[in-house]
Amino acid sequence: MLKFVFISIFCLTFNSSFSQVEEGRRITKELCSEKYFGRGYIKSGDSLAAEFLASEFEKRGLKKIKKSWFQEFNFTVNTFPANMEVKFNDKFLITGKDYIVDPSSGSSNMNWNYKLLTNSELFDEKKLFEIVAEIQLKKIINGLIVDTRLLKGDSLKKVKSIQFQLAQICAVISVTDEKFTFSVSDEQFPFALIYVKGEKFLENGNKIQTNIDAKLIKNHHSRNVIAYLPAKKRTKKTLLLAAHYDHLGGMGDNTYFPGGNDNASGTSMLFALADEFKKNPLKYNVVFIAFAGEEAGLLGSKHFVENPLFKLKHIKFVQNLDIMGSGEEGITVVNATIFPDIFEKLNSINEREKLLSQIKKRGKAANSDHYWFTEYGIPAFFIYTMGPNKNYHDVFDTYEDLSFNEYNDLVKLIGEFLRTF
Ligand SMILES: [Zn+2]
Repeated sequence: MLKFVFISIFCLTFNSSFSQVEEGRRITKELCSEKYFGRGYIKSGDSLAAEFLASEFEKRGLKKIKKSWFQEFNFTVNTFPANMEVKFNDKFLITGKDYIVDPSSGSSNMNWNYKLLTNSELFDEKKLFEIVAEIQLKKIINGLIVDTRLLKGDSLKKVKSIQFQLAQICAVISVTDEKFTFSVSDEQFPFALIYVKGEKFLENGNKIQTNIDAKLIKNHHSRNVIAYLPAKKRTKKTLLLAAHYDHLGGMGDNTYFPGGNDNASGTSMLFALADEFKKNPLKYNVVFIAFAGEEAGLLGSKHFVENPLFKLKHIKFVQNLDIMGSGEEGITVVNATIFPDIFEKLNSINEREKLLSQIKKRGKAANSDHYWFTEYGIPAFFIYTMGPNKNYHDVFDTYEDLSFNEYNDLVKLIGEFLRTF
């Protein structure tokens, strides 16, 4: 009999962890699909993702707060909704791989009559001023090319800021060897700023055509998606589990940033944990928030703490999940050194259960949605995974590249950790 019970318990645990990662994969894959177009600002990507997440909350029987799944807010964002073409010697460069635009880039639809700036021109204010004056007066040159490949440290930094200034005067191509990293901007330069991989630039010689449409959206409408699960016994005390679902959207009509690790993976884990807590409720209520506008500057979480749907003082702890798709090299906990006692609870569960290879401690950082809660005096952790997958804010951060290696262990660790409150 004992043996039978043991086997049943084993099977039950095994089955539930199997379904956790399978469910995590399903939701992550869905969020990375073209339908949501990088969960950004064109093709209604973020809005469709919000609807999908609300339907997943509803399916699980979670509850709405104030009769809605959504908390709405607006912000300004620069977008690239239509044409996105860069041609060198009549050959199209591949968007996201051979080149990207700066998030603040303006439009550029032209054949280039350009000047390649030398380093001595770049670092000589007088010379640079003369070049700019000539461009503005004669209107013959319509683009500048800056080669940053041999620059490092402070001189690279300086040239990057010069490029921003030059994009106020004419279109700019920056030749680079750096990894492409896209983000979100709330402003638009008057002209295009395009980053091109060095080897492509050399290969392709000097006939350049661009067809890039940028559009600054003044009042982009966005929604946090919010649900809650009541505690075992009625209480006002609440734990908050957060993950941002928005990402970088797209660049042109055909290229989008899937945001697999960042943060379809963490968003999916809200549901894996909701399933756990549904089966076995906690002492406290759990509020689940899929935040919008994180990539645009932590805007969804800022809006929430400034316009809370219930009293913030009832929130005993906030657990934010962002980049949860790997974990082969363990996890990092932001705010660990600010709340050492809480960190110790997490660490001891990991040591007891032998789940992750390491848990690294970090101090305060304004790098995800936990930040505003700590600023409002609420203890909060941000957990992110570490592993061989280094795709970040680029077109390579796909569902297919995620290992989900530690997914079940992470759900177990975070689930048990939240039970200690
Ligand atoms: Zn993120």
